[in-house]
Amino acid sequence: MRIARFSIDGNVAFGVVEGEPSDQDGPVIDIIKGHPFAEFERSGQKVPLSKVRLLPPVLPNKVVGIGRNYAEHAAELGNEVPEVPVVFFKPSTSVIGPGDPVTYPSFSSEVHYEAELAVVIGRMCREVPRERVKDVILGYTCGNDITARDAQRSEKQWARAKGFDTSCPLGPWVETDIDLTRAADLGIMCTVNGEQRQLGRTSEMVRPIEDLIVHITEAMTLLPGDVVLTGTPAGVGPLSVGDEVAVTIEGIGTLTNKVIKRG
Ligand code: MG
Repeated sequence: MRIARFSIDGNVAFGVVEGEPSDQDGPVIDIIKGHPFAEFERSGQKVPLSKVRLLPPVLPNKVVGIGRNYAEHAAELGNEVPEVPVVFFKPSTSVIGPGDPVTYPSFSSEVHYEAELAVVIGRMCREVPRERVKDVILGYTCGNDITARDAQRSEKQWARAKGFDTSCPLGPWVETDIDLTRAADLGIMCTVNGEQRQLGRTSEMVRPIEDLIVHITEAMTLLPGDVVLTGTPAGVGPLSVGDEVAVTIEGIGTLTNKVIKRG
């Protein structure tokens, strides 16, 4: 099931996306009563997807990023795969939705895309044992861990480089029908202006999703709607003002954002 968050006539709601773009009238959203983190009911009230504005599928309290989780990507930037996973935060204020603009930050002249599988947490959890990881995941969405690479190199912590406003596009919706086995082998692609820049599979992750959730929750509580970005495959590169960047993940969908100048 694809759960989207959207606005229509000034109201914000969650809904289940039904149908495909190829359908005669396109996909529709069945508005749900309440929120998707508990048992919910579909209202049966349906609106065409084309008539709503999709929002970030969740409003995370925190986005936890994992660095250098694909060996080829670590190597392309001259880094080793770390012995202990690199964990960083992207603040809630960095999150934007599908179609929202990425604003090129004033302090950088080297902003990169990073296509990533985003894990959406479904329930409050801490010290999650490996075998319970499946129970704390609501589903998966596409993420773009936009990074000011020059600031990442020159500053010891990555808070500015990876945490600036609009640096965390998420969407287009949360796919809940993917289990951990399937999530461990999904195609992941990034295009810029329609041209392919990254193409990998989540099976290339150095540390699987289970290990990441165990590692993170050893230290901190994850809340419903929190997001874990699982790292990016090789092929990262620069974005310029005017570019359209799209992250596509097999079985989930495509997240598209345009880069604009700070106005
Ligand atoms: Mg990343």
